Amino acid sequence: MILDTRTLVIVLVGIGVLLSIAAFLTWRAHRHITALVYWAGGALLGTVGMAMVTVYGVWPPAAVVPLSNALVAATYILNWFGVRSFAGRSIPWRFGMALLAVLTAGIAWFVVATNDVTARILIMSAGIAGLSLLAALELWWTGPADRPRRAQRVTALVFLAHALFVAGRAVLTAWGGPLDSILTPNLVQSAGFLEAIFAVTGWGFGFLAMTSEKLQADLDRIGTIDPLTGAYNRRAFLKHAERELLRAQRNGAPLTLLLLDLDRFKRVNDTFGHLAGDALLRLFSETVTARLRRTDLFGRYGGEEFCLLLPDTDRTWAVTLAEALRRDVAARPLPFQGHEIAASVSIGIAACRSGEDLDAALAAADLALYRAKRNGRNQVMVDEATA
Ligand code: GH3
Ligand code: MG
Ligand code: MG
Repeated sequence: MILDTRTLVIVLVGIGVLLSIAAFLTWRAHRHITALVYWAGGALLGTVGMAMVTVYGVWPPAAVVPLSNALVAATYILNWFGVRSFAGRSIPWRFGMALLAVLTAGIAWFVVATNDVTARILIMSAGIAGLSLLAALELWWTGPADRPRRAQRVTALVFLAHALFVAGRAVLTAWGGPLDSILTPNLVQSAGFLEAIFAVTGWGFGFLAMTSEKLQADLDRIGTIDPLTGAYNRRAFLKHAERELLRAQRNGAPLTLLLLDLDRFKRVNDTFGHLAGDALLRLFSETVTARLRRTDLFGRYGGEEFCLLLPDTDRTWAVTLAEALRRDVAARPLPFQGHEIAASVSIGIAACRSGEDLDAALAAADLALYRAKRNGRNQVMVDEATA
């Protein structure tokens, strides 16, 4: 059974229009995701290009063929640009435009100089397979590692499969001898259009699924991360800490909690303003994070008070780390409008003991912190039961 090529092209045009609208509407709702504009634009241009294919043989080929091919090539260039934009990478406009010019010139040559359909298919196939492969590779490898990338990787596979199929189709076309038209209803051309329908649908769903995945990750982030310091917020810290506590108690591993409170922080706000205070909180968070292991939990408990949960860490190691943090903070004043704002931190340490809950450890660390403050600040104190 050989499906009618013109019918397949019409289906492809319909899907392209729908994808373009879907991507555009999604962009309207989430304007910071610029990639959607590239994808919507790409789908639209390709759709116009494919619509022109339906008038092949009706309108003069020298006018229609190079333009429709250029529009289809633009789809793949814009898809790839969108993928880069989605990953926060630069857009290679010059390379894209140069590639478009080369492909279009090649197509024009094989319309005007000699009417060679096979050569045109080979040129376009090379461009499409190459650009799809680029999109596949970038989708597979790029993007932040801390975000789920399932939809992105499935979309990569769609592009990879498309690249392979288009390359295979090019080889079979060259093998099959001269063609009158791209619409010639033979098995290879018919299968080519059918596969294009699957590919466009596949990457269309893929792009939208990627967008949804990214938005969900952004939401999760907003719900768990303190925007000023990048530390966990109190709720997220407590949630992760509860899990750590259960794990440590099951494994009989030591677990230590630190409460860190910046000294005389109110003075910084009162003397230099809230912006200085905010900058100091950020610097403090950076200073602490620089010393942490991946498994340590760092949270902003509230205001200028932070907590740190150290798995597999006993009292001795916790004191060593706390001392190092205290020294780091004191040694790193904040440069602010020509001033150097000195800071210091007081730290209270408590071990999480088996049979006790997190609140008990927090209370114990708080008492130790209180002693550190009363003793003159800029020091580390250990809970009496822990010590
Ligand atoms: P101590 O050494 O006893 O801890 O004194 P302190 O001044 O650090 O403690 P206090 O609790 O009196 O003041 C904390 C201040 O932290 C008060 C509050 O305005 C400020 N603060 C809390 N959150 C923020 C914030 O996000 N940004 C800024 N700039 N200031 C904050
Ligand atoms: Mg304070
Ligand atoms: Mg405080």
